[in-house]
Amino acid sequence: MKIAVIGGGAAGMATAYLLDKQHEISVFEQQPILGGNIRTLNKNVTGVALDPNVILDNGVIEFQRENFPNFHRLMQALNVPIERGRTSSELFLSDGHTFKSGAGILHDCQGISERLKEIRKIMPIMGGYLNFLLKTRKVKPGDLYDKPMSDFLNQGVHSIWLKMLLMYAYSMPFNTIDNFPAEIAIPLLQQSDMFTQWDRIVGGVYTYIEKILQQFSGHIHLSVDIKAISRQPNGIIITMQDGERLHFDKVVFAVTPEQVLGLLADASEDERRRFDAWKPNEITTIIHTDVSFYKHFGVSYFSEFDVFQNNAQGDCGYNAYLNRLYGIDAKRYGHYSLAYNLSKQINPTKVVHLQKHQTPYYSVAAVRYRHEVIATNGENHTYHAGAYLGNGLHEGAISSAYAVAGLLA
Ligand SMILES: Cc1cc2nc3c(=O)[nH]c(=O)nc-3n(C[C@H](O)[C@H](O)[C@H](O)COP(=O)(O)OP(=O)(O)OC[C@H]3O[C@@H](n4cnc5c(N)ncnc54)[C@H](O)[C@@H]3O)c2cc1C
Repeated sequence: MKIAVIGGGAAGMATAYLLDKQHEISVFEQQPILGGNIRTLNKNVTGVALDPNVILDNGVIEFQRENFPNFHRLMQALNVPIERGRTSSELFLSDGHTFKSGAGILHDCQGISERLKEIRKIMPIMGGYLNFLLKTRKVKPGDLYDKPMSDFLNQGVHSIWLKMLLMYAYSMPFNTIDNFPAEIAIPLLQQSDMFTQWDRIVGGVYTYIEKILQQFSGHIHLSVDIKAISRQPNGIIITMQDGERLHFDKVVFAVTPEQVLGLLADASEDERRRFDAWKPNEITTIIHTDVSFYKHFGVSYFSEFDVFQNNAQGDCGYNAYLNRLYGIDAKRYGHYSLAYNLSKQINPTKVVHLQKHQTPYYSVAAVRYRHEVIATNGENHTYHAGAYLGNGLHEGAISSAYAVAGLLA
């Protein structure tokens, strides 16, 4: 069959790879590069003033070891080298208090007394987190349907920490987390204790897209401007802005969900209901070399993932220290970090690269009909893949690709 895959991010490229041997695949990507939220400097992102030996990710970085089975299955199939990253983190509150994660205490503290001091500090967080685990232990996925995270959080410092984890994982503004869908957040939080193992891809995340491209026999169209996609009894028609009409047997939408209705010329009432509440979450991440904002807290070390409360109202951001994540020699190349929502703290002269991203804006209303999208995949020659149909992270993107590939096998 001739299959059009709309969107060349993780879900689109994984779907294209999985279907490539049996079908004639064409990928349509609106950006001039592939990858979606995968933005690897010196790979798919070029032209940045950066030593060519330094590979940095300004988007997707890491993957849970135990809970990303489909992602790891794909990496094995592609023979992509994976390394275990060290992932400690520290929470910096606007009142000056700081809290280290378990891994941070284990690896970064000198001596037993410093460790005990830090353990004492995180006891309220650990206690609150254990309570949260007990409270959510017996809930079944169905019990979380249509529930916001505010039903499971309170004013305690452990709730701030959990909300910051969600802000970090989904690049969503901190003040939106109360209305974040519990059906996506709770499973992730249950799996994200303070010692969770995370993997990284050697050579940057785009390495696996390169591996796909090395063996891909289909067609890739970049910088496309699709006007409309319509369904016919015997297939689908893609109409480009310049009037060109292309015929395919099937279409896979692997775009962010708020894009779907704008592309569909003939959306049914059911499709409108399923996608209507999705909005875009437009964010910018920054690669920078500034480490001075740690000094406000009197610390001179960096964890892999630090989360900062910018003010007492709860505005928050994160800083991921890439040297540690990628094993980059700081003495030779300098300190590199990826930051989100810390632009006021970062010295503009230390900014290496700004990256805009569009991700789904997760809310209870947006995910309300997600199960219908998954259940009706294939109707009217139309399929959907994307991180938003799973855990909202790379595992969700790759799982949804395997699901679509299974239906089209
Ligand atoms: C800064 C950041 C860091 C992240 N870090 C991690 C991480 O460490 N681990 C993790 O597991 N997840 C992470 N994520 C989550 C990430 O969103 C998913 O892991 C995954 O990459 C999403 O893939 P996707 O294919 O569903 O969507 P996308 O990557 O958004 O791909 C959608 C593609 O569709 C294209 N498109 C959109 N509209 C059109 C159109 N009209 N026509 C043609 N093409 C179109 C887009 O340009 C894009 O290429 C991160 C996200 C961000 C933003």
